[in-house]
Amino acid sequence: MAHTHQTDMLIVGAGPAGYTAAIYAARAGMNPMLVTGLQPGGQLTITDEIENFPGFAKPIQGPWLMEQMREQAEHVGTRLQYDIITHAALKDGPDENGYFHLTGDSGDTFLARTVVIATGAQAKWLGLESEKTYQGSGVSACATCDGFFYRGKTVAVIGGGNTAVEEALYLTHHAETVHLIHRRDSLKAEQILQKRLAANPKIKVHWNRAVREIVGAGSPAVVTGIDLTNTQDPTQTEHLALDGVFVAIGHSPSTGPFRNEVACDDEGYVITAPGTASTSIKGVFAAGDIQDKTYRQAITAAGTGCMAALEAERYLAEKNINH
Ligand SMILES: Cc1cc2nc3c(=O)[nH]c(=O)nc-3n(C[C@H](O)[C@H](O)[C@H](O)COP(=O)(O)OP(=O)(O)OC[C@H]3O[C@@H](n4cnc5c(N)ncnc54)[C@H](O)[C@@H]3O)c2cc1C
Repeated sequence: MAHTHQTDMLIVGAGPAGYTAAIYAARAGMNPMLVTGLQPGGQLTITDEIENFPGFAKPIQGPWLMEQMREQAEHVGTRLQYDIITHAALKDGPDENGYFHLTGDSGDTFLARTVVIATGAQAKWLGLESEKTYQGSGVSACATCDGFFYRGKTVAVIGGGNTAVEEALYLTHHAETVHLIHRRDSLKAEQILQKRLAANPKIKVHWNRAVREIVGAGSPAVVTGIDLTNTQDPTQTEHLALDGVFVAIGHSPSTGPFRNEVACDDEGYVITAPGTASTSIKGVFAAGDIQDKTYRQAITAAGTGCMAALEAERYLAEKNINH
């Protein structure tokens, strides 16, 4: 049977941004409700080693960290709903009683005085079976997160846009050699980045090449190389011996039901006012990767989750709503 839930704050998304917003809101007495979506814990649930989240001297497991965040959020009073928001009526503002109306896949209705969109983004992958096999064992979509593990090693970056070139440049701080694999004969990245790339002796660009397979060996198996195909002549193939592969072909923000309800950029990222978590609709806030295509880190997601909760609290106070 469908239910109607009422809350001062509905948080959509159970990643670092959503859980942090929940912790702050619950401690402020806002009785928040958090809808988890299909991936409770978010992107970090698919990674093994995290070394850059402050507070832990040794590497920690992504799923473990997210369990801690969930427990903390529940411990301070967050109500969790295992549902997916499929519809959100935000653009006309709250109803006459001050509530936004959202609907879950379960048929439940959520009435919320404030909404925090924390639905994250997903890295785009090549779609190879072998890519899934070696995720976390040599295949990554985040140089900032995993570059450190490739000190003195050989890696490849797949892609030709700004992200790919930035990741390749960043990886030269750790890796000995960085191969940039691009399907075409020119890059889409900005000229300034292309100049830096050309001037970097550690980077070797492979034009007109597509990844056919990611190859690994050992027990447990780790990446040992990639098979490439010439996009101009698919009969020509070659093998590159490597220690790691960084897929950098873009991200898709999970804007879904919010796309036409709050202002988004061309790629679908929610636009927040500079230095705030405020969206184009008063009372609706956004935090984490859904509004950030620059940093994309757990700690920045958590930081903006905190901002969203504090701003929501201030918004309710200005409306004289006691919670
Ligand atoms: C393989 C990998 C390794 C990484 N390693 C690191 C690392 O070492 N260090 C680091 O700082 N960062 C790392 N990152 C990046 C980090 O995971 C992200 O920056 C961070 O998770 C973003 O948090 P978020 O809360 O914005 O969103 P996400 O973690 O993406 O969570 C989004 C949440 O929204 C939910 N959701 C989506 N749509 C809906 C909907 N319609 N209704 C309800 N819920 C919905 C999802 O179920 C999920 O719970 C890594 C990322 C990946 C993919």
